[in-house]
Amino acid sequence: MSAPLYAGVDLGGTKILVLITDEHGEVLSEDRVPTHAADGPDGVVARIVDTVRTAGQRASVDLAAVHAGGVSAPGPIDAELGEITQPPNLPGWHNVPLARLLHEQLGIPFVLENDANCGCVGEHLFGAGKGYRSLIFLTVSTGIGGGIIVDNRLYVGASGAAGELGHLIVSRTGPVCGAGHVGCLEAFASGTAIAARAEAAIAQGRLPRTARLAEHNPPLTAETVYLAAQQGEEEAYGIIQEAGSYLGLGLASMVNAFNPEAIVLGGGLTNMGETLLGPAVDTARKRSFAQSFSDVRIVEGELGERAAALGAVAVARQRHAEAAETDSATREVPSGR
Ligand SMILES: [Zn+2]
Repeated sequence: MSAPLYAGVDLGGTKILVLITDEHGEVLSEDRVPTHAADGPDGVVARIVDTVRTAGQRASVDLAAVHAGGVSAPGPIDAELGEITQPPNLPGWHNVPLARLLHEQLGIPFVLENDANCGCVGEHLFGAGKGYRSLIFLTVSTGIGGGIIVDNRLYVGASGAAGELGHLIVSRTGPVCGAGHVGCLEAFASGTAIAARAEAAIAQGRLPRTARLAEHNPPLTAETVYLAAQQGEEEAYGIIQEAGSYLGLGLASMVNAFNPEAIVLGGGLTNMGETLLGPAVDTARKRSFAQSFSDVRIVEGELGERAAALGAVAVARQRHAEAAETDSATREVPSGR
């Protein structure tokens, strides 16, 4: 039998990225196209199918040789059913059985998992989390997502919704997160939160440099605030550091609750380096149990833009192996007696 190949699909609100990989996550080819989410499910599913075919051709791979595929999609999803439930950034998608549709059209069995869990499994199997039995993955970008690996397995919880680490409560009061809760980590430390803090300061006539940069290159984002901070705007620097210290409160809770071997930090905001992560790690050290903190390695993710698609491959590989195990276990059960 030839070495198994996999297809990984990262379905995002703006782009679709497809990878064909070997079983070690080595990328043989990739292709990306815009999602055009407004076309609705039919158009987008057709585009995913085309993109997988193109990626297959680029790698000179017959799709019949692809063992399994995985799709990383924005939540909420039903991983068990392989259905996209009703994601906010894919308008018109209600209970779309994406895994089944792709299986029918490509002849490859597909699994579906949410993007943060894919990022987590990807870093665990192929990236910065390789070799750790227990780890927490945290992705910090416009929102904050996460995933939890316990004893080498993704922890999914009672209904598949575990790992919402952006919604750890770090304050009794404060701003409201994307899901409508008060005091969530995401409402203090995400890119959206940093931009909102800056907007409020600008409205009061402060942050002149950030304001000027945003005027030249709208919209105002966390990256704008970071750029102003790099150019010497003290208050912009302070806003990012404060977000970092809230991030640290979240990290401290994770360290105390899970005593993980590693925390892998991904997402665009990690590009801010020490400015954000310095206060985060400092706060985490001060606010967690000393032994647990000394046991944990806090590292940056290695998979970058491909994290979700490689994670989808990792999830597909894992489920494929489990299914094969179950199959052989079923066959090994002695019949009656
Ligand atoms: Zn929340």
